[in-house]
Amino acid sequence: MPSKSHIAVVGAGAFGGWTALYLLRRGARVTLLDAWGPGNARSSSGGDTRVMRGTYGPDQPYARMAARAMRLWKEHDQRWNCRLFHQTGVLWMATAGDDEYERASLPFLREAGIKFEELSPEEMTRRWPQINFEDVRWGIHEPESGFLRANTACQVVVNGFVAEGGEYRQAAVVPGKVESDYRDGLRLSDGSTLLADQYVFACGPWLGKLFPETVGDLIRPTKQDVFFFGTPAGDDRFSEAKLPVWADHRDRFTYGIPANEGHGFKIADDSRGPEFDPTSGERTASAETLAMVRDYLGFRFPAMKGAPLVETQVCQYENAPDNHFIIDRHPRVENIWIAGGGSGHGFKHGPVIGEMVAELVMERKDADAMFRLGRFAKETG
Ligand SMILES: Cc1cc2nc3c(=O)[nH]c(=O)nc-3n(C[C@H](O)[C@H](O)[C@H](O)COP(=O)(O)OP(=O)(O)OC[C@H]3O[C@@H](n4cnc5c(N)ncnc54)[C@H](O)[C@@H]3O)c2cc1C
Repeated sequence: MPSKSHIAVVGAGAFGGWTALYLLRRGARVTLLDAWGPGNARSSSGGDTRVMRGTYGPDQPYARMAARAMRLWKEHDQRWNCRLFHQTGVLWMATAGDDEYERASLPFLREAGIKFEELSPEEMTRRWPQINFEDVRWGIHEPESGFLRANTACQVVVNGFVAEGGEYRQAAVVPGKVESDYRDGLRLSDGSTLLADQYVFACGPWLGKLFPETVGDLIRPTKQDVFFFGTPAGDDRFSEAKLPVWADHRDRFTYGIPANEGHGFKIADDSRGPEFDPTSGERTASAETLAMVRDYLGFRFPAMKGAPLVETQVCQYENAPDNHFIIDRHPRVENIWIAGGGSGHGFKHGPVIGEMVAELVMERKDADAMFRLGRFAKETG
């Protein structure tokens, strides 16, 4: 019997955890490592929740990927007997003046088989009277979309991976020179070396530090503040029982997740914040962003005007220059793979990325051209 191929996956966030699981299911022996643990508070997969949506404007092939991912999240909820996916629906508010993004989404939603309805402001007001639809010309409602638990999901995926026979270790890979250091085994923080046949680095916002020449500034971490407001006592109009996930392209792209499982009403601004160091950055939300978010909250959700802030979280996007994922074999070392560049929208796709990377690694295929590092050849010189 030929021995199983041994693959080390570094990073147990949304990209690495699912990749490790699918590599295992394809018959590899897999060791998964993480410096601080799956979905830790420094990671881009940290925090409570993430939006699961299919509306993606003209940025494709993400609607199709989201449709597949949604099926896989639901399948795993059943398999693991848990509730990572909450089907609250997602409502997109297209404002007067600029509804290009929403318009461009429709054919892709149709093609991907994601259920949606186009709604007038009157119909939206009838269904969700707790929202002020001033400025909104029309809306897209995705009734079968919703939100995902984030850090919990990362832990559940790793538990599933271990239950199916994978090995998980909490250890940090010490950055080194790619050609001489990583290829012949990973040097770990506990002084040991981990030798494998192939290596997948799914280190989110840290990829630039681990691969300064190959990735470097191509992944730019930015600080993103997330706010949770307390809902009125005894009132479920702003909780998952009555409100869908929502997104609004008004002046800035603002989105939110209804209160759920004891958490407040979540609201965040998708605009890229200042550059941020994921290891040493202090996670204090900015007072300026809070003031802006409060103004918006009072306008769009009048009964939430003046609601108390009950929690804040600071996460970072790991932005690729074109906001597309980076999934590729290392250009100079053929047994090293890189998966990252989630750019503020990667979480939902975790299971699909896992399937995709596992196929590339096990079948030694070439990555899709749109995700390859080579697309930045001009920028890298
Ligand atoms: C505020 C916010 C809101 C978002 N909203 C959404 C959303 O609504 N929907 C959506 O789909 N996506 C969303 N995203 C994006 C999504 O969460 C990320 O793209 C995705 O989680 C990235 O996962 P990752 O596995 O690539 O990175 P990470 O989760 O950062 O995982 C990388 C892991 O690598 C580990 N690591 C790093 N260096 C080393 C080392 N040297 N040795 C060992 N381990 C190491 C880290 O500890 C970490 O756990 C959001 C992101 C943020 C920050």
